[in-house]
Amino acid sequence: MLFQNLSPVANGPPAALPRNQHPRPRVAKQPSAANLVLAVLPRKDYQRLLTGLLEPVELTYGQVLYEPAGQIGHVYFPTDCLVSLLTAVDKNRTLEVGMVGNEGMVGMPMVLGIGVSAVQALVQGSGTALRMSAARFRAEFRKNLPLQRALFHYTHLLMAQVSQTAACNRFHPAEARLARWLLMTSDRLRADEFRLTHEFLAHMLGVRRVGVTKAASVLERRELIDYSRGHIRILDRKRLEAAACTCYRIVKDLQDSAQA
Ligand SMILES: [Zn+2]
Repeated sequence: MLFQNLSPVANGPPAALPRNQHPRPRVAKQPSAANLVLAVLPRKDYQRLLTGLLEPVELTYGQVLYEPAGQIGHVYFPTDCLVSLLTAVDKNRTLEVGMVGNEGMVGMPMVLGIGVSAVQALVQGSGTALRMSAARFRAEFRKNLPLQRALFHYTHLLMAQVSQTAACNRFHPAEARLARWLLMTSDRLRADEFRLTHEFLAHMLGVRRVGVTKAASVLERRELIDYSRGHIRILDRKRLEAAACTCYRIVKDLQDSAQA
């Protein structure tokens, strides 16, 4: 198992996710749906899925939903949890290549008719999701045109995010990437405070722990974040966005326009 003993949260504390006044993302057509893919489905379809096919589950920090090359047992529509998609760099390192919150679905290979995951899907922020078994999803997806449309659209958004992340990991300095990562996490968890260990961040950003310390210190000195004992608090969101690389805004604008 490629990812065995590599879990970035193996020794980390659970992610406490205090809620605050962070604005909830706008929901397009289905105001009762907390997941934005489900939100665009016609009300009747959504109700049918909710009462017959979807099952609410609590996902906890550090939980692995899929391993690379592992079978996809369920697809997940996060409502207020956050899932990282990680790829192996070598025997000791993993790197985050994507992040899924309530804007998307975990288990996207299923949309392409593939029942196997290419990445590790790791719960990065505890919370709830609606899940559907792979078999039920396969049958439903085949006949549900609005669901197809919503997930094709999300495929485009996720591909844009993954492509931008690839460019970001190669070209942008660690502190700008850290700022971007914190903003993306904050958006999806709808919180300005969360728990994160250096080790976890090192895996997410593909840098050494000392690199995380350095990057976090830069942001702390500028009073953009407070980071102590694995607890991160965003102090000035606006200035943190200015410190982040342009990748954050590019992906966010694309996503916001999709939801408009
Ligand atoms: Zn970047």
